[in-house]
Amino acid sequence: ERVETPASVHGIDPALLDERAVKVVHTLKEAGHEAYVVGGAVRDLLVGRRPKDFDVATNATPEQVKALFRRAFIIGRRFRLVHVIFGRGRDHEVIEVSTFRAYLDSSEATQVEGNERTSKAELVGSAHAVDASGRVLRDNVWGPQIEDAARRDFTINAMYYDPETQIVVDYHGGLGDVKQRALRLIGDPATRYREDPVRIIRAVRFAAKLGFALEPGTAAPVKTLAPLLANVPLSRMFDEMVKLLQTGHALASVASLKEHGLSRGVFPVLDVVFDDARTPQEQAFIRQALADTDRRVGEGKAVAPSFLLACLLWHEVLAGWKQRRSAGEHLIPALQQSIDAAFDARIGDISGRGKLGADMREIWMMQPRFERRQANTAFALIEQPRFRAGFDFLRLRADVGEAPAELADWWEDFSLGTDEEREALLVAAR
Ligand code: ATP
Ligand code: MG
Repeated sequence: ERVETPASVHGIDPALLDERAVKVVHTLKEAGHEAYVVGGAVRDLLVGRRPKDFDVATNATPEQVKALFRRAFIIGRRFRLVHVIFGRGRDHEVIEVSTFRAYLDSSEATQVEGNERTSKAELVGSAHAVDASGRVLRDNVWGPQIEDAARRDFTINAMYYDPETQIVVDYHGGLGDVKQRALRLIGDPATRYREDPVRIIRAVRFAAKLGFALEPGTAAPVKTLAPLLANVPLSRMFDEMVKLLQTGHALASVASLKEHGLSRGVFPVLDVVFDDARTPQEQAFIRQALADTDRRVGEGKAVAPSFLLACLLWHEVLAGWKQRRSAGEHLIPALQQSIDAAFDARIGDISGRGKLGADMREIWMMQPRFERRQANTAFALIEQPRFRAGFDFLRLRADVGEAPAELADWWEDFSLGTDEEREALLVAAR
């Protein structure tokens, strides 16, 4: 049932809106289409937060949307949508516009054998497909708004907001759940988790981010169905993990994973975090890395996933490094090999992840260079584009007693010093 709620009741503060998203909605409506801000942005507006990005939903097709904007691109194969681009450089912003999609009843969809990891070929030709465990593999059939709402995950993620009339459209009691601070899957929870097991991780992420609780029906199947996460492509799992760590509530998310029985075997990188064999110093290092990330996100600063991931995997790299050193390998090759081994064991193929792997490697490779405080190497090191990340990493090691505090202080002074101060520091370090 479609419920329309006016501003006087839902209380969304229009000042939290993004003017470009408002403009996109306006342009679409003026062309005779339906258009709304949708999903996570509406949820965030309702809890009084400024959404970090705005998605728009419309009954216009991707081609119709594209035709209305000067800089717009149709993207995605599995899920075609339009990116409308505003501004350039630092001011660059993307509004994602998706066309209302039909609700897929997974019991009626074409069943295909195997899963996405093994059998892409079998999907060709079927717009709706689920694998044997009920996971939706494709859904690109347009439909009315009511169906678009039903295929979304949580009730609080399935509302539509018209910035012009300020009306919220809700089919699933999302407004009530926001008030009750409850995460409730739309439909039968077990079915919805089977369709897409990543919803398990999303539940944990939103719970941590919003401080909401999983309503009992939504929480109940989690433990039993968690093994289905093994069928999700690793690259998607990796993206989800990065999002989870960047909610600004990484510590809470990690605690919440544990609480729901998801502490091990879900994300290989995070297994390190839950490893009880870690020394107190190693645990302190990881906790502090997570806490620093949360603090930075809370202050509205950028956080690089490479830094946090470098922290999480550091002790694995360090152990391999020590081992190879004592087997007679040279300092730098030993570190290189340990890094390769850690990537293989914990992340898998990162070739598609752009700079991420390279940045992590650079942070680690800088650590032995900090030990050498000589003019020729020191000047080169502080000129490196990633010096700051490498230094922050050294500082974290020093904070937990793994590296001398004096060493971190020296590099801080050296990087900030005048020419004379630097000369004096080099002399003092001899
Ligand atoms: P965030 O603030 O973290 O971006 P979000 O709710 O915007 O949260 P997105 O991943 O950006 O999350 O997805 C946008 C919207 O698309 C969601 O609000 C939800 O309505 C829908 N959605 C996303 N992923 C799923 C999914 N796995 N199953 C069903 N609906 C989904
Ligand atoms: Mg979003």
